[in-house]
Amino acid sequence: MPREDEEGSRGASAGVAAPAAALPVTDTLYREVILEHYRAPHGRGEVAAPDAAAAGRNPLCGDEVSVTLREEAGRLEEVRHQGCGCAISVASASMMSEAVEGLGPAQAREIARRFKGMLLEGAEPTEEMGDLEVLEGVRSYPVRIKCALLPWNALLDALDVLDGKEGRGHG
Ligand code: ZN
Repeated sequence: MPREDEEGSRGASAGVAAPAAALPVTDTLYREVILEHYRAPHGRGEVAAPDAAAAGRNPLCGDEVSVTLREEAGRLEEVRHQGCGCAISVASASMMSEAVEGLGPAQAREIARRFKGMLLEGAEPTEEMGDLEVLEGVRSYPVRIKCALLPWNALLDALDVLDGKEGRGHG
């Protein structure tokens, strides 16, 4: 028999905003960090004259993201992301641009590799990953791992474009 005295609290939670309710992360602090990035994403937009661009889609969730970047003197001066997606994909894109801006392309690849290792193989997050470690909780939700990885795969594609250009340019 269902307990009648729980009726009140169930009714009260019915109006919770969708992004928060859909977040597959139980830790309160981590949820807050993810939602902060979702509400005010770092690096949202498009680089005006990008050196490289790439886009990706996650059909399982409907997320879409495009990444544009500009390199100057061997560093990623600007890394921007644009598109529409769930809280996890947008927060991950925000943290991605925050984490890799100012780094060399090889360092950016290394962070992407570690982030993927954390989500796909359960590797320990490292210090330079910063806020990214809060996405570790997504590991328990295989469908949402694709949301978190989407902007990173687009970044890696854009870095491939950048490498290809440089290879030809100096040849
Ligand atoms: Zn998603």
